[in-house]
Amino acid sequence: MSSGIRLLPRARLEALPEALRALGYEVLGPRVEDGILRYGSLSGIGDLPWGRGVEAAPGRWRLVEGEPARAFAWANGPQALKPLVFAPEETLWRSDADGRVRPEPPAGRPRAVLGVRACDLAALALLDAHFLRPGCEDPWYAARRAGLLLVAVHCTHPAATCFCVSTGDGPEARAGHDLALWETEAGWLLEAAGARGAEVLARLPTEEADPASVEAARAEVRAAAARQRRALPGRDLREALFARLDHPRWARVAERCLACGSCTAVCPTCFCHATDEHPALDGTSAHARRWSSCFTERHSYIHGIVLRPDTRARYRQWLTHKLGGWHLQYGRSGCVGCGRCIAWCPAAIDLTEEAAAICAGAGEAAP
Ligand code: SF4
Ligand code: SF4
Repeated sequence: MSSGIRLLPRARLEALPEALRALGYEVLGPRVEDGILRYGSLSGIGDLPWGRGVEAAPGRWRLVEGEPARAFAWANGPQALKPLVFAPEETLWRSDADGRVRPEPPAGRPRAVLGVRACDLAALALLDAHFLRPGCEDPWYAARRAGLLLVAVHCTHPAATCFCVSTGDGPEARAGHDLALWETEAGWLLEAAGARGAEVLARLPTEEADPASVEAARAEVRAAAARQRRALPGRDLREALFARLDHPRWARVAERCLACGSCTAVCPTCFCHATDEHPALDGTSAHARRWSSCFTERHSYIHGIVLRPDTRARYRQWLTHKLGGWHLQYGRSGCVGCGRCIAWCPAAIDLTEEAAAICAGAGEAAP
């Protein structure tokens, strides 16, 4: 019986972005820009980061030479899918001088994103749970999300900062994508997940995939999982963290933390935002939303009081909410193990280390 997995031969890879464009999508993929990897518009597969790798460690992320014949031999860059659905800054509505409000829906055509990782698919499911909650859907998020087609890549080169195995989210892309891709010597192995992915796959000049190469590709992903060394001390740290709100480690980490918010900006699941009114002299006004962070002073300002006045309280809020409170709100931890907050923290603070130190002795078994 056929596995449904098809081979797009190396010489025909361009057919994938071409098919997506023919279906009306703007095609995005990882590109090297300003020394980092970020999603940008692809004019062809030549724009992908062929031959590039990534070296990551606490407080460190560098592009390095990778494998020339591979475009996805690295784990992730600082950018997740978040800014594609939840804009870092946007005007939500404008009001006329007479007070009439006009919403500003997001412009742009549907987008197909090539090279999405398992951790970012899991993060997107969490953003969906927040922004698409029945009864209070965010129309700006919903409009962008509806037009998103996702081509996932099963991860084979985890960074030293990755720990998606311990959160249960990777490195294999298991849900939330339309097409999944394994990078092999002969080309890309493709598997459709759902009708939209099947429609794309049907347009491609694929061949039947050799079962041995499919098994070799799957084995490479299993090997990638086995290479991950970081882990959280458990998937549900609610009780352990909330029982340790006075742990001395909160003050110790606050001595290093700069409260810069870099971790929350790169985190694919952080959704906190602030809103600003921009009134003009002619009586019109624009109402804008921008990303915010629990590390800022204003984030906990309520009626003349800053509820979290110091870095100790803000770091504790970040960790207890992310690894504890999310279980109550969304039924799971808010961490998908992408490791971005570790690599992009200028103080090299590692949340797996902090969680382990604070939860030590809590009896949390590793999953
Ligand atoms: S943990 Fe690191 S990235 Fe996050 S606010 Fe503190 S210094 Fe910045
Ligand atoms: S908390 Fe850190 S490792 Fe977890 S999802 Fe956010 S950025 Fe990734």
